[in-house]
Amino acid sequence: MNLVGHLIHGEVITNSERQQSVYNPSTGEVNTEVALASHETVEQAIASAQAAFPAWRETPPAKRARVMFRFKQLLEERADDICKLIGQEHGKISHDAMGELQRGIENVEYACGAPQLLKGEHSRNVGPGIDSWSEFQPLGVVAGITPFNFPAMVPLWMYPMAIVCGNTFVLKPSERNPSSVMLVAQLLHEAGLPPGVLNVVNGDKEAVDCLLESPRVKAVSFVGSTPIAESIYVKANANGKRCQALGGAKNHAIVMPDADMDNAVNQLLGAAFGSSGERCMALSVAVAVGETAGDVLVEKMKNAMATLKVGAFCDATNDFGPVITKQHQEKVLGFINSAEAQGANVVVDGRSPQVPGYPDGFFVGGTLIDNVTPQMTSYQEEIFGPVLQVVRVKTMQEAMRLIDDHEYGNGTCIFTRDGEAARYFSDHIQVGMVGINVPLPVPVSYHSFGGWKRSLFGDLHAYGPDAMRFYTKRKTITQRWPSAGVREGAEFSFPS
Ligand code: NAD
Repeated sequence: MNLVGHLIHGEVITNSERQQSVYNPSTGEVNTEVALASHETVEQAIASAQAAFPAWRETPPAKRARVMFRFKQLLEERADDICKLIGQEHGKISHDAMGELQRGIENVEYACGAPQLLKGEHSRNVGPGIDSWSEFQPLGVVAGITPFNFPAMVPLWMYPMAIVCGNTFVLKPSERNPSSVMLVAQLLHEAGLPPGVLNVVNGDKEAVDCLLESPRVKAVSFVGSTPIAESIYVKANANGKRCQALGGAKNHAIVMPDADMDNAVNQLLGAAFGSSGERCMALSVAVAVGETAGDVLVEKMKNAMATLKVGAFCDATNDFGPVITKQHQEKVLGFINSAEAQGANVVVDGRSPQVPGYPDGFFVGGTLIDNVTPQMTSYQEEIFGPVLQVVRVKTMQEAMRLIDDHEYGNGTCIFTRDGEAARYFSDHIQVGMVGINVPLPVPVSYHSFGGWKRSLFGDLHAYGPDAMRFYTKRKTITQRWPSAGVREGAEFSFPS
């Protein structure tokens, strides 16, 4: 059986540590094994990154950016290979994997502009003959810990910008789908990255704890579920590290009575069921406002879902694929069962989907649940599956209160034709990313990505302008060159 190892100092290492099986969720079979790094292996990766830091810090930003230009080109050339690996180990359909990779490539494009971003700020004559400037210096060794659901895109949110800003990096990707991550990291080396600037260690909690405890790691970017994000944020802070930890979500779409219902249904279909609902921006709750919106929405959604096609990653005619593991499949089914037991109405039931030729895949069919209430477990927790729940309320204020009261605040959307209502909504809602008739308001690479409330621990968002701030520290230098022979007396008052 193939073993996915680690990438340390530019070399792939497959020593015999603990291992874990990686599944093909479409077939239910083991696809490969992945090595789980020991403390020693992680220390080796950190040491490699630290050794590479002094020379990389001194490499001119334009030269660092040139590596990113070549990297972008290689990612485009090898897109089919990367997407095939994503499909095999994640289960997402090829067009969806391509979309994810494209979004990742856009982050590499943004990193190509780093010399412009790193220019700093300069003020001449802040005092007589005194100039002052701020520059942005790299932190040193930075770590990234990433989730399974975007194996190509989320690591690319992190290391291109961290590296182009002059840091060196240790990535700990999800152990559930490591192969595409390794290929992408190897392409960056092919593009000319010096050994040690990016290291990849595969592993679990043991590897993560080692990164969090190492005094040589200066900052940590994390993306994953909220309980782990919170614990990582607390631990990283206790160990004196800068940390941004992005967590889970429960994204609501308000459907106003004046909305274009056919359009709202189409948008909701893709946003709720695309990638099997395993997106942190998936719309998992539709809040129907008013007397009739709920009935119309549920009826139209039910009809539209009749043609939804769940199946294996390799058939591009499928709308979405399996969920990531057998355990996760059971968890999603458990949420549907609990909603039903607590009084909700399962209108479209995806608990027993038929996928000919793939009897052991981890499939859940598209599921629509009506009359969900905020007290239900399925409403309170993140399901992370192809399940859309409908909550019915009387007014927009009630809908907004529902969203504001939820512990998560990642993304949200309103479907309406009323500009005033949309403006009020986007202005006041307590959520970090807002769509107006846009179901997945994932910011483009030159804005930053992040939720509010328990969807993000930390101050700075991921990628875009915030990434430059996160991966650098500001230094402000004030300079005077006294004229030769001029001596100034001691000054005891505060300089003004
Ligand atoms: P996860 O929290 O289980 O794992 C994320 C990472 O943390 C993985 O690398 C994993 O190995 C590591 N990890 C897991 N348990 C750990 C522990 N006890 N101690 C230390 N490290 C640990 O998340 P997942 O299941 O891989 O991904 C799905 C979750 O990620 C969902 O909740 C989703 O909403 C969230 N997510 C959020 C965003 C965002 O931007 N907010 C983006 C993508 C995914």
